[in-house]
Amino acid sequence: MFLKNLTLKGFKSFADSTNMVLEPGVTVVVGPNGSGKSNVVDAMAWVLGAQSPKAVRSQKMDDVIFAGTAARPALGRAEVSITIDNSDGTLGVEFNEVTITRILFRTGESEYMINGVTCRLLDVQEMLSDAGVGRQQHVIVSQGQIDAVLNARPEERRAIIEEAAGVLKFRKRKEKAERRLDATEANLLRVQDLLREVR
Ligand code: ATP
Repeated sequence: MFLKNLTLKGFKSFADSTNMVLEPGVTVVVGPNGSGKSNVVDAMAWVLGAQSPKAVRSQKMDDVIFAGTAARPALGRAEVSITIDNSDGTLGVEFNEVTITRILFRTGESEYMINGVTCRLLDVQEMLSDAGVGRQQHVIVSQGQIDAVLNARPEERRAIIEEAAGVLKFRKRKEKAERRLDATEANLLRVQDLLREVR
């Protein structure tokens, strides 16, 4: 599995549609200060489902939409697509290539797509968590994060490793199932009380 392609349109400083073709191995993005290198990484985090504006270095989510310059008006929507080569089947879907798209309109509406078909954020998250790219996105290591990992409490560090190993989603599902069981037991008790009353 590797990233094949990244397309940004109206995302942060990338007003025009910009396509980046990536090869297996190491890719280095170089450019002067403020030219948009970190915006490229933000775009990756965003299209993979980042929910907090902080995760994409913003105050509010619509800050990711091109805000305009002296020469160019602001845009009404941001769109990012990422294409992942899945020929080794890591993503657990039958496609050799998977393109994830996220669109955000200034009105607040947003849309996710997998291979051009509209889907829910949850569908994107579930597919990615099979490959260890979970909600916390530990695949993107930003400046200062190494220190944060080293200084984390043991249980926090364990959660990071579990997510990268793809275990966290099973723990979450187990917790959800346990909550449902508790609710069902409470319902059963209530039914038994009612039965006792009518007898
Ligand atoms: P450095 O090397 O200093 O870390 P960088 O190449 O990583 O810089 P970025 O932080 O990616 O640069 O880009 C910053 C630029 O992106 C700034 O010029 C900022 O004005 C611009 N920018 C950020 N958000 C938007 C937006 N919504 N609309 C237009 N431009 C934006």
